[in-house]
Amino acid sequence: MKVIIVGAGFSGLATATFLHAKGIPKEDILILEKGPVPGGFINTVNKDGYIIETGPEGIRGNAMVANELIDLAGARDIVEPSSNISANRYLVQKNRLVKLPHGPISAVTTPLISFRSKLRLLAEPFVKNKDIPVESSLGELIERRFGKGVDHLLDAFISGVYAGDHRKLSASFVFPKLAEFEREHGSIIRGGMRYAKEQKRIEKKVGDKKKKPPFLLNFRNGMISLVERMSDGFDIRCNTPVLSIKKRESKYVVECENDQFSADVVVISTSPNNCPDLELKGKLPLNPIPAPPVAVVALGFDENDLPDRPRGYGYLSPSKEDRFALGTLFTSDVFPHHAPDGKVLFRVILGGRRNPERAKLSTEALVENTLEDIRPLLKLGDAQPEFTHVVRHKSGIPQLELGHWRVDDFRVHLETQNPGIYFNAIGWTGIATAHLADEGRRLAERIINQQSYPL
Ligand SMILES: Cc1cc2nc3c(=O)[nH]c(=O)nc-3n(C[C@H](O)[C@H](O)[C@H](O)COP(=O)(O)OP(=O)(O)OC[C@H]3O[C@@H](n4cnc5c(N)ncnc54)[C@H](O)[C@@H]3O)c2cc1C
Repeated sequence: MKVIIVGAGFSGLATATFLHAKGIPKEDILILEKGPVPGGFINTVNKDGYIIETGPEGIRGNAMVANELIDLAGARDIVEPSSNISANRYLVQKNRLVKLPHGPISAVTTPLISFRSKLRLLAEPFVKNKDIPVESSLGELIERRFGKGVDHLLDAFISGVYAGDHRKLSASFVFPKLAEFEREHGSIIRGGMRYAKEQKRIEKKVGDKKKKPPFLLNFRNGMISLVERMSDGFDIRCNTPVLSIKKRESKYVVECENDQFSADVVVISTSPNNCPDLELKGKLPLNPIPAPPVAVVALGFDENDLPDRPRGYGYLSPSKEDRFALGTLFTSDVFPHHAPDGKVLFRVILGGRRNPERAKLSTEALVENTLEDIRPLLKLGDAQPEFTHVVRHKSGIPQLELGHWRVDDFRVHLETQNPGIYFNAIGWTGIATAHLADEGRRLAERIINQQSYPL
């Protein structure tokens, strides 16, 4: 069986790695990539001793399948876990940083939620919703269950992590488990507790009593080193954009500018907006989905110039605070090897669904506005950065908003009508690397079962 994977981002490489682990030889897998190098959103800039991630800062440490992928890619020896200090997280409230609670006592005493809203949170299991709509935004779901008092926390989390708008994102695609807990248990807390109990039971059964995993995993020379390990030994043709995919007799023909290839199985590992032209059975319309631009501003300082800076993972800013940046990661606290000794690295994210135009500002304006925004929050005094680096994504994180079921219908319909065609990439069913690793593994299993390999 010949497999072609369109796109050598994290998803394409994860699918290839799992397919190979399930018995398909690397020579039978061809990966066609539009860009000059594999990685997609993942890339790492190594400059002046700083390590700057242009995309994900890391992979969730407790993600089981992503960990399996790291092992299969032979990248365990280069894993760099996040430091313990990353447990300290902050939210902006009235122009200052307030620590997020990380235990029952701090949850009771936190000034981030009013006393009334805390009582409302505790009442959630007893709140009855008569009519649960078929589709809700994440904001609607959380307000229905927990009241309005946590809206600013959700808003900050979603704009920081998804560069999105919680009032537009579809709950069923962004946090499917929460929507399921409400539907099946009538309560997120009740459903969550049952789920946690079940997870513990499974962990016990498989004898997984390891110590708590680190929050994030990065790699010796940054995320790009994982991409290098995942790419190793595969036939990856870079600078080869796929223009169209057609069915010809029993094979699929994949057309590029100067070449064409045929295969029994084609995995489309590009986001919906980059999907090649499909001349296949039962084609549905695929409308573009929002993927607002985001920018990453990396700033390096001498640590002696910042004696009062807060320490930890970073902060997020709710939109009602009306600040320039969505949030800042204290990169050198989380991954000390990402800055030279004695230096501090911050990674500021801005733009996204609420303020896409900010990500298009000139480099000078981006750095200047960013510094003005973070200076009082991070107690920078009059310190000036010794190092700056700006990364822009013209097309940023795809937003799985209300109505995203149409994109999912397109995917399921095409996969059903055209055996051998599969989809896995950011923007189809999820956006995080841990989710895409899960999907890659599931897809590899489906391909092996459906194609009853070896053919
Ligand atoms: C700023 C930022 C921060 C992020 N932070 C995190 C984080 O902390 N944690 C996390 O889990 N995730 C994070 N993400 C999301 C993460 O980057 C993605 O989940 C992941 O990298 C997506 O990989 P992918 O392969 O699905 O898509 P992509 O990375 O988009 O890869 C798709 C590939 O397909 C190629 N391609 C497109 N069209 C064609 C064509 N016609 N022919 C051939 N090839 C084509 C592209 O060139 C690309 O290489 C972040 C993303 C951004 C932008």
